[in-house]
Amino acid sequence: MASNGEASDRILVVAPTGADAANIRQVLRRAHLPAEICADIRTAVRLLPEGAGALLITEDALISPERAILAGCLHDQPAWSDIPVLLLSNAASIGWWAVSGADVLGVRTNVTLVERPLRASILVAATAAALRARRRQYQLRDLLAEREAILQSLESRVAERTAKLQELVAELESFSYSVSHDLRAPLRIIAGYARSLIDDFAAVLPEEANNRLERIARTAERMDRLTQDVLAYTRLTRADIILESVDLDSLVNELLDQYPVLVAARSQIEVRFPLGRVVGHAPSLTQALSNLLENALKFVPAGRVPHVVIATQARGARRRILLRDNGIGIAPEHQKKIFGIFERIADRSVPGTGIGLAIAKKAAERMGGTIGLRSTPGKGSTFWLEFARPAEAPAPKPGKRRRT
Ligand code: ADP
Repeated sequence: MASNGEASDRILVVAPTGADAANIRQVLRRAHLPAEICADIRTAVRLLPEGAGALLITEDALISPERAILAGCLHDQPAWSDIPVLLLSNAASIGWWAVSGADVLGVRTNVTLVERPLRASILVAATAAALRARRRQYQLRDLLAEREAILQSLESRVAERTAKLQELVAELESFSYSVSHDLRAPLRIIAGYARSLIDDFAAVLPEEANNRLERIARTAERMDRLTQDVLAYTRLTRADIILESVDLDSLVNELLDQYPVLVAARSQIEVRFPLGRVVGHAPSLTQALSNLLENALKFVPAGRVPHVVIATQARGARRRILLRDNGIGIAPEHQKKIFGIFERIADRSVPGTGIGLAIAKKAAERMGGTIGLRSTPGKGSTFWLEFARPAEAPAPKPGKRRRT
């Protein structure tokens, strides 16, 4: 309903005694103020939501128990609405209404008391003022509706664009997955042939030829590792991850027994069993932990024997898995950025693809977990992964056992 529409300008008159209603309407009409007589409070209450500029009511109308219906209707007005109520009262009772009006019509009611016997000019002035205030309320309502419409259209545009972007990201993921996948076979053939040439013909080939073959083999192997990492990352973003209670003791034991790099470095890894359980996805957890462990063993200053401690900490409803190393450490300004894909800050001579931490982060996120680190450059780093604890899991007892 528009703010300047007829209904929103009308004055609803409830004056059940004698010719009151007709007289009031006549006075208002003469001042070009549209009045509509309501036989009783119920009628006014029915018409109010359709639009009204003011409610003019005599005190005798409020003797009826229907006043409770009116109080309820005034109380339930929308936030923008505060309909002016002009209450016509006799001089004898106007003081009482001033004190007790709120008890009858509710504290939210916007009442103006008009004393009887009525002076036409006062009635017209009070009604016109009430209509002006009411028009502002309708303007506010229209502005709110306009704002709501804009917000809704913005929301639907954002939802539409998000859906398009998600579609695009899914297409790109699937593209990068198939490219990475298809790249692996030729890369392995290149590396394989280069290695077999070195193995079979090193003795008869000139040294320069051997060097070049070695470079071909190493580059192809590095590319192969890179495609493997990209595949692992993409797989993680697309995989269905079903979360369950994972026993960290057996997961870490299996990890240390199965990953060749970790098997070779077993004596340098101390695990503080029992580690307890977390809510996670075992393959993703294995992937994240193996990446962190490989880094912990890899980024150590020359001449220092790596030492890594794996432990857990209960933190309220969550459990934190900590991997503390004695490596080169990471400067504070790099601590956030290293989780980005292809971000490497260490010496380029240390092998790597720059995807390991991005994979660990993605894995943690997909399992509803978080990842972080504390580090002192030169002294070492502590990387952590944090997940929910399964409800039934008992807290692990403190203990220490070095794996050898
Ligand atoms: P990559 O190991 O292949 O270089 P990552 O994504 O695993 O890639 O790590 C990114 C970078 O973060 C590494 O190149 C290294 O600079 C730094 N980094 C990761 N782990 C450690 C660590 N434990 N100690 C010191 N630096 C680390």
